[in-house]
Amino acid sequence: MKYESVRGMRDILPGEIGYWKQVEEKVRGVATCFCYREIRLPLMEHTELFSRGIGEETDVVNKEMYTFLDKKNRSLTLRPEATASVARAYLEHGLHVREPFQKLFYIGPMFRYEKPQKGRSRQFHQYGVEAIGSLDPALDADVISFAWTLMDMLGLSGLSLRLNSIGCAEDRQRYRKALAGYFAAHIDEMCTDCRRRYDSNPLRILDCKESHCQLYIQQAPASIDYLCADCDRHFVEVRGYLDKLGLNYGIDARLIRGLDYYTRTVFELISKDLGAQDALLGGGRYDGLVQLLGGPATPAVGFAGGMERLILVLQKKNRSFGREERLDLFLAALGEEGRLLAVTLAQSLRSQGISVDLDYRGRSLRKQLGYADQIEARYLIVLGEDELGSKQGRIKNMDKREEYEISLTADAIAHIVHGSKHGD
Ligand code: AMP
Repeated sequence: MKYESVRGMRDILPGEIGYWKQVEEKVRGVATCFCYREIRLPLMEHTELFSRGIGEETDVVNKEMYTFLDKKNRSLTLRPEATASVARAYLEHGLHVREPFQKLFYIGPMFRYEKPQKGRSRQFHQYGVEAIGSLDPALDADVISFAWTLMDMLGLSGLSLRLNSIGCAEDRQRYRKALAGYFAAHIDEMCTDCRRRYDSNPLRILDCKESHCQLYIQQAPASIDYLCADCDRHFVEVRGYLDKLGLNYGIDARLIRGLDYYTRTVFELISKDLGAQDALLGGGRYDGLVQLLGGPATPAVGFAGGMERLILVLQKKNRSFGREERLDLFLAALGEEGRLLAVTLAQSLRSQGISVDLDYRGRSLRKQLGYADQIEARYLIVLGEDELGSKQGRIKNMDKREEYEISLTADAIAHIVHGSKHGD
């Protein structure tokens, strides 16, 4: 029997981990600078949280959730996104009672039953930020600035930000009516999904990716033409901040995002290098979600980005990224006694924070030296009979191809390896 991973869920092998670690590190670094604190959430929630929070008629809830009954017949769902969980945690732990304004971030796996293709999988990873408890347009700009700062730190350029406003709940009612009126004349020529959406929520027609439906969608009314005075002012101010900060954006009148909780500002950051699945990250305001989940009226704004897509772009654009960390020292051993010395030295050096490896396969000295070269160890020491007797040996700097006489104690070795590490 041959075992394979579940379709759309892949292993991240050691060769790629350098990218993952560096991206995670950068996200955490930018989060610290922007004062976001990390939150870690369960991978599963009660299904109701998502069906209510994200919206029954969205593709995510309607088609893409991994939902099952547990042993007590409770309906659980593997999280397809984390914003609803963050809002749940915010209320469940009374974070809003102690300090209603919270800036939180997360990194972790999400699950959606989608058709796997480049940049789209069934288990994928998101990093995301949520700023809860303020309607200040400067906060929308802060969240967008976080996204741009992260891209800068990763050395990525040539990206574009699509921006739109879909207004408050009342604006959306009016916009929905306008869309229903517009699509009435075309809906018979559109796909079955769109026809269903026309009856349940015409806004969701704008999510359709069918090229035939897109012809009609491109001509549909724009949401910014249906904003009330407050939402209009908010959008003007958000753009004002973005202009002041010199952050690029373009208005995309048809951008509404695929989840029902969004209000007012919505945005996506796009990369040309991604092909059809071109969104690196997406987000916006969700001023009604906390209240919808039973809390007080609490405005909020955030975004989520896909780690896999970000890494795809980095692999193309920034080749210096993602290098694995090099081994500090390889101990090549000859004979039983040399090996014993290698084992004990390795033990004390590792406890001083130095990465050390040695041969565990009984290989010849020539093979051990070849291996140290192949893995690009920074230093090499050969431990044979002579070295054992004299307790003196030679340490080779593999980059400079230079050797130095050294006494074979962990402290003396550590001094050289650490010294050169900090001097790099
Ligand atoms: P969303 O939660 O749908 O707004 O998605 C936010 C970001 O997550 C997108 O811009 C993508 O970068 C990423 N993403 C969403 N769905 C997938 C998926 N199925 N596979 C890989 N990345 C995804």
